[in-house]
Amino acid sequence: MERREFFKLAGASAATLAIGGALFGCETELASPAETNSSGDESVVGSPQVSFEETVDVLIVGSGIAGLSAAMPPIEEKRSVLVVDKRDLLGGESYEANGLFYVSGTDIQKNAGIEKTAEDAWKERKSELEEEGSTDDLRFKQSLVMAQAEWIDHAVSVYQASFADPKDYAKGPTTESFLLPKKGIGDMDSIMSPIKEGLAGKGVSFSLGMKAVAFILDGANNPVGMRFFSSKSDSILDVRARKIVLATGGFCSNQYMINQNSPDQTTIGCLTVHSVGDGIALGATLGGQTAEMDQPALLTSDVPQVSAWGLFGPSVNVSPQGVRFAREDQAGKSATECVSQELGFWWTVFDKQLSEGILSRSVAYVSSKSAKRLVGPFDSLDDLASAMKVPADALADALEAYGNAVEAGKDEEFGRQAGLKPLEGPYYAIKQFPVRYKTLGGLKTSDTGQIVNAASLPVANAYCCGSCAAESANGLASNAAFGMIVGKAIVDELAAEDEKAEKESNEAQS
Ligand SMILES: Cc1cc2nc3c(=O)[nH]c(=O)nc-3n(C[C@H](O)[C@H](O)[C@H](O)COP(=O)(O)OP(=O)(O)OC[C@H]3O[C@@H](n4cnc5c(N)ncnc54)[C@H](O)[C@@H]3O)c2cc1C
Repeated sequence: MERREFFKLAGASAATLAIGGALFGCETELASPAETNSSGDESVVGSPQVSFEETVDVLIVGSGIAGLSAAMPPIEEKRSVLVVDKRDLLGGESYEANGLFYVSGTDIQKNAGIEKTAEDAWKERKSELEEEGSTDDLRFKQSLVMAQAEWIDHAVSVYQASFADPKDYAKGPTTESFLLPKKGIGDMDSIMSPIKEGLAGKGVSFSLGMKAVAFILDGANNPVGMRFFSSKSDSILDVRARKIVLATGGFCSNQYMINQNSPDQTTIGCLTVHSVGDGIALGATLGGQTAEMDQPALLTSDVPQVSAWGLFGPSVNVSPQGVRFAREDQAGKSATECVSQELGFWWTVFDKQLSEGILSRSVAYVSSKSAKRLVGPFDSLDDLASAMKVPADALADALEAYGNAVEAGKDEEFGRQAGLKPLEGPYYAIKQFPVRYKTLGGLKTSDTGQIVNAASLPVANAYCCGSCAAESANGLASNAAFGMIVGKAIVDELAAEDEKAEKESNEAQS
């Protein structure tokens, strides 16, 4: 055990963060005793002196897809890596995700005859960004898109992550632009478990149930470690590390932060509970800047898997008045429209075609887990309308208009492209409410994922990736790629530092 008096903590005290406060700011280096009338022996409750129990090259805080991906390059270069998570379970929100990896140009897609490349995907993304006026950091955004295919190929070939064959579900440009886990929607186990096992096999250590509560600074105020606290065992773990990666997810579940940044969304429910913005608060204690914090959180259905069903087969989303109101082949579209049109909730009408093929597991899971939300089967639309408590005429009109769009091969009204097929009945419907599920803002980072301060200068040794960072983009594929970019940058930085140290030592000896 290593004990040094001159290490200090930057951040909220262990006690404060342990009870769930998202406290920004305050480095705990205090003014000298003479100035403060302190004897110098006093301490803050919950902040004992630093006492390193572990020393690693790379410390990763958070075991979601970003954190695990950041662990890949350093462990593959035989660096020592520790991944710590505040939960007793690995995987974070990533493990609970639907599993759509928006990516193009992977070997899996090429083998399935899909021609769209990573460059094509970047062209599309670039024009979207230009339309939105988000043209900052285009170089990094491009590297993120390009790294996504590389990440998938690597995760498959080195870690045996298992994806479904796109031939089983990809029927056009929309469905050709993503990959799904082996068993379809909701099967993140097929991706995360082999990666975790592979990392452990290569030597990554994992520590669970330990919450990062403060950076540990050296005498020059550079972060050289992190303090963790376990509320279960009421114990502290101080880890010394050459490089520290915050991969703690977003702040969607932090009602206070949502209210501060997107007050319009305060009264919308939230799907997640653990994404409370810890990393953002910790990064701020180092002077790390944030960006995009006021971007509205992304919304989805409170039965999230249903939000993706419309990509694969016939379904019609209708309001409580029985009126179709949004295209069904964009995962978050119905939730967003439900909120903006103040509908309260909506229904997804479907038939047994959805329970065949790639969605079979998901439909079975939802039908059992959310049975109380489900009505059907009904042969007649009147009976369906009655069970849904929506006007029968309106529902019949909505389904007829949908049928006409299917026949015409074009959904003029809403622009749906995927899954535009006739509904055949018997009919089912499932009721859903809109919820927040992912925030977009976070810590500002350099091109290599290093946290940057107000002067846009990188903070030594401190990195951030995934939903904790402002550039995390939409989800799984981009967060995974972000983690890999950070991991590679750390490998380079450690090699450069070692080379420099060796040179200096040789010079000193000669
Ligand atoms: C239901 C659902 C469905 C989704 N579906 C999709 C989808 O189909 N496609 C897609 O692209 N995206 C999807 N997303 C979004 C996607 O899951 C996230 O963007 C992504 O998982 C975030 O990855 P991450 O590694 O940044 O964070 P996370 O996976 O959330 O990991 C962060 C980890 O950090 C840990 N942590 C936090 N604070 C601390 C601390 N102080 N100390 C130690 N550990 C800490 C957490 O416990 C967690 O394990 C979905 C999200 C949800 C909730």
